[in-house]
Amino acid sequence: MVQRRAVDAIDRPRRFQEPSDGCVPDDNRRVGGSQDWRLRGQEEYLDGARLIKKPYRAVSETSEHQHCEFCWAKFMDPGFSPVHAAAVANDPSILTAGYTVLGGRTIHGPQDDYWWICPRCVSDFRERFHWTVLDLHTS
Ligand SMILES: [Zn+2]
Repeated sequence: MVQRRAVDAIDRPRRFQEPSDGCVPDDNRRVGGSQDWRLRGQEEYLDGARLIKKPYRAVSETSEHQHCEFCWAKFMDPGFSPVHAAAVANDPSILTAGYTVLGGRTIHGPQDDYWWICPRCVSDFRERFHWTVLDLHTS
C-alpha cells in the first residue's frame, strides 16, 4: 500500500524569505554598487602604479606561480616544467601573461614584477587606481 504523503506540505509554494528591514547578509554587502569583491584596500600600494604587460615567468621552484592581486586568477609559466605546461593546457582559467607593476611598493622596497594583475582587472580598475599602462607593442 502506497503511503499518502502530506500533499499540502509539498505543494505549498515556498516563499523566498526576504530581509525585512534592508538588512543584507554580510557576504552580499559588498556586491553591487561601487564596491567590488575584488577590492580590499589595494589603493594603499597600487594607486598611480605603472603597469606593463608581459608574459609571466616563474622565478624559482618556490615561486613558480602568481595570482592576480585583485581576483586571484592564477598565472603560470608553461615553460617552467612539463607539469606547468600540462596545468596550463588543461585549465583555461590559468593565465600565462598579464600586467605587472614597475617599481611596485612592497615590504621589500620598490620591486618590479612583484604585483601581478590580470587583463580583466586592469580594464576594470585602471581608471579607479590611476594606472599608467605601458605597452611595449605600441610605440
Ligand atoms: Zn584579476
